[in-house]
Amino acid sequence: MVSRVIPVDPFDLVIFGGTGDLAQRKILPALFRRFRGGQMPTGARIIGAARASMDTDAYRAFVMSALQEFSGDGSAQEIADFLSRIHYVILDADGDTGWSTLRGFFDQDDEFDEANPPVRVFYFSVRPRLFGGLAERLYRYGMAKGGRIVVEKPFGNDLETARTLNQMLAAYFHESQIYRIDHYLGKETVQNLMAIRFGNMLFEPLWNSQYVDHIQITVAETVDVEGREDYYDRAGAMRDMMQNHLMQLLCLIAMEPPAKFDSDAVRDEKLKVIRALDPVQPHHIVRGQYSGDADVGLPSYRDTVGNQRSTTESYVALKAHVSNWRWAGTPFYLRTGKRLVARSSVINVMFKDAPHSIFGADAGRHANLLTIRLQPNEGITLQVTIKEPGQGGMRLVDVPLDMSFAEALGKEGSHPADAYERLIMDVIRGNQTLFMRGDEVEAAWAWTDPVIAGWTARGDVPKPYDSASIGPGDADLLMRRDGREWRGIRP
Ligand code: NAP
Repeated sequence: MVSRVIPVDPFDLVIFGGTGDLAQRKILPALFRRFRGGQMPTGARIIGAARASMDTDAYRAFVMSALQEFSGDGSAQEIADFLSRIHYVILDADGDTGWSTLRGFFDQDDEFDEANPPVRVFYFSVRPRLFGGLAERLYRYGMAKGGRIVVEKPFGNDLETARTLNQMLAAYFHESQIYRIDHYLGKETVQNLMAIRFGNMLFEPLWNSQYVDHIQITVAETVDVEGREDYYDRAGAMRDMMQNHLMQLLCLIAMEPPAKFDSDAVRDEKLKVIRALDPVQPHHIVRGQYSGDADVGLPSYRDTVGNQRSTTESYVALKAHVSNWRWAGTPFYLRTGKRLVARSSVINVMFKDAPHSIFGADAGRHANLLTIRLQPNEGITLQVTIKEPGQGGMRLVDVPLDMSFAEALGKEGSHPADAYERLIMDVIRGNQTLFMRGDEVEAAWAWTDPVIAGWTARGDVPKPYDSASIGPGDADLLMRRDGREWRGIRP
């Protein structure tokens, strides 16, 4: 398998929050990997911006240690070459310090070519409170024209705040310039999901309620909320994960085939799915909060956030219905939680049993299962029923047809590009397909808000669940009441 690097135009990428955690762990290592992959043309510049007082040399040293810690590869020469592209500006997103200096980087292109504007990306890797001010100053200092802004999550806290944020950005940037990032959409398997659905004849005819019994989407984490206590205790799993990541995965599974693979066609179809979601019934949702484990010194959720009365959920499971012709009668079960037994993001499409077994009752019940693993070990498995090998009559057994990328695609498949690599390169190419549009985000909040309002009105308290478990027992009941079971959570 030969790696194909699609060239991009020379670009300038400004990272507001260039000294932050996300810049160190994700953005800078992703850029370095693309640099090593030959995708950073001569003349491309990366400009870190933050309030910390340092010069470009000190920032380069800072970037080098971030690469050493979070990238772990690359020769000394490659690192040195990459660092020569890095610059730093002391800048205050809340004030006017540094903005003229930043503008100075772009002064040479005074003869701005409207038809072919230079590629300038402004990555908002700062607290959301600063997003509006950044947009306004970029405009005021003459950098908005032709520029692209990348906006990190969380995008609002509810419908009202998301709407306000959309309006603030729209005052200075056209929607085609705004890239709302959800890194789940940058995962190799997520795009493969679309390739599998729309590139094969095999699945799409079966992709509806006539053949699909139900769909499970699980995003399980082993980590707790440490390091993000304040934010998380105000947000909870519903806002932090369900409203964005799980909702986006549901959209890609449930959407109609877009007429073409372009950003508005794909996003139009995703939006229709969100708008077709029924409101979630209170008895179709389970909230949980992890307990501590004194034996191994693990603090409870409430200990972690330092709030013994917190009623924020670190786990949520729900049953959703997409009310349209394709999906009427096929439930979608979604769950996500922290401090669970394994880190695993997986989508299971459970097909219905064959309508009649010619092999008799002894053959048991068998149904096909398509498993799409997002992390770890990205890959896709189709479980099919075959005859158990050997003597002894017609016994059936389910075996996996494993399409793990590592095996099928060799080196390329075993090291798929990190989501941030792909998404940043998409911004540079001007491709918005894998980014959320403003109306999508608002529709997702419009679906989420009543659920949260219901909890508040009822004084709902999340059910405790053990650390390293699969979540609260009530989540199993949610499935068992429907005669179904969650698939295991495995690494
Ligand atoms: P962080 O570690 O707190 O970093 C914040 C950055 O913003 C620092 O570089 C800080 O540098 C800079 N900053 C703060 N106030 C500023 C101001 N007034 N003007 C200019 N720069 C300012 O935060 P983070 O974890 O990197 O998160 C950044 C964004 O990404 C947030 O929106 C977060 O929700 C989102 N996000 C983060 C992660 C993650 O894994 N970290 C994951 C998903 C989304 P100075 O203090 O020197 O100015």
